[in-house]
Amino acid sequence: NNKAYIGPEAIVAKRKQYGYPCTANFYKNPPQIVGGKMHKLYDHEGKSYVDFFTGVSVVACGHCNEAITSKTIEQLQQLQHTSTIYLTQPMVELAERLANGILPGKLKRTFFVNSGSEANEGALLVARMHTKRRNFLALEYGLHGRTFLTMNVTGIPMWRTDDYLDSDVATFIPRPYDPALDLESAARRSLDALAAVLAEKGDTFAAMIVEPIQGNGGMIVPPDWYFRELKAMLEAHGILLIADEIQTGYGRTGRMFGIEHYGIVPDILTMAKALGNGVPIGAFSTTDEIAASLNRPSASTFGGNPVSAATALAVLDYIEQEGLVERSAQMGGKLIAGLKALQAKYPVIVDVRGKGFMAGAQIQGASDQESAEWTDVILENMKDRGYIIGKNGVSRNVLAFQPAMITPWEDIEAMLNALDEVLSTLSHRE
Ligand code: PMP
Repeated sequence: NNKAYIGPEAIVAKRKQYGYPCTANFYKNPPQIVGGKMHKLYDHEGKSYVDFFTGVSVVACGHCNEAITSKTIEQLQQLQHTSTIYLTQPMVELAERLANGILPGKLKRTFFVNSGSEANEGALLVARMHTKRRNFLALEYGLHGRTFLTMNVTGIPMWRTDDYLDSDVATFIPRPYDPALDLESAARRSLDALAAVLAEKGDTFAAMIVEPIQGNGGMIVPPDWYFRELKAMLEAHGILLIADEIQTGYGRTGRMFGIEHYGIVPDILTMAKALGNGVPIGAFSTTDEIAASLNRPSASTFGGNPVSAATALAVLDYIEQEGLVERSAQMGGKLIAGLKALQAKYPVIVDVRGKGFMAGAQIQGASDQESAEWTDVILENMKDRGYIIGKNGVSRNVLAFQPAMITPWEDIEAMLNALDEVLSTLSHRE
């Protein structure tokens, strides 16, 4: 490729000059990413990186995967866009496909949008229309989006950017995790807190929104029984459950949807990210009965456009043909086992959590600040060695592993070896 790349320094300078100061990047020396091929990314100097973050679970079927992009291009050249006012085929085919065999239980109707925030916004709207109630329940440290309502139900302080959020629309329940408690006690305490809120004002809530595994909150996996009990408690008060599968959906955790691990079906399920493998598309799905309540005008200019819908159909074909949900369970399990082996070797890793290809390793220094600094040092060193890893967690101290679900085992093993080396140099610093 003979394009003239301006290089990372110039990009940083232009972001500073023309962007908003809210944009951030993970690295002291960030690479300029110019290409991608399956599980790898390439920078402007031709250096390759195995991508263990995939833009936070987005490119789950691999970068520029020809089996998918060929369908995108075909559609792009045939009909790019018109309006959902007219009849186009890919969107209804996608909705039908999701209803018949992909979505769990009686979730049969889908509304398409363009992002995760918009999908959750739509889910919250349907819940209000259906229950005729205004308020919402959410978990502390959850993340659900950047629009006003989704930011209101976002419990992670760093993503509550607006100083003027409505103070009464969301009630937060402690999440089923607390470093000071064992998991069972933390989950029990969470449901006790929920019970107290429900006893006081259960009939004011339209829905509770949850991530089956909290992503940005630091890869929090509740005990198996937690969501089952929570769902029953909500049902007793006529409150809907919205599963935000924007990060956990589409095979990421070793099931098609994360909530399936817990043996329940939510009333509304939202998805985005991996749905288009990098092409923007989001969706919220629900039952016939609940969907019937969204009976006043609501339309999306780009939601369900032919290009995104055709791409999403190709994504589903690819996941099925390649058995990627099962692969995520198996290979992800091996990745998590590898991280646990590193935890046994290096005390700086205090916890390894996750399911399938959604794994986190928590780094602990003497203070929150030191934990975050060490996490950054690890990320930078891993990047220099050719591995893009993510981070999340309330203190930004959880290494996040969300690779493409097609990543070969050799590359996972090589990454674990590189991480072993980086951690050993880090322990010398201690
Ligand atoms: N929900 C979850 C669980 C997410 O992880 C995110 C994005 N990180 C969102 C919602 C918002 O999605 P988007 O950025 O596409 O609006």
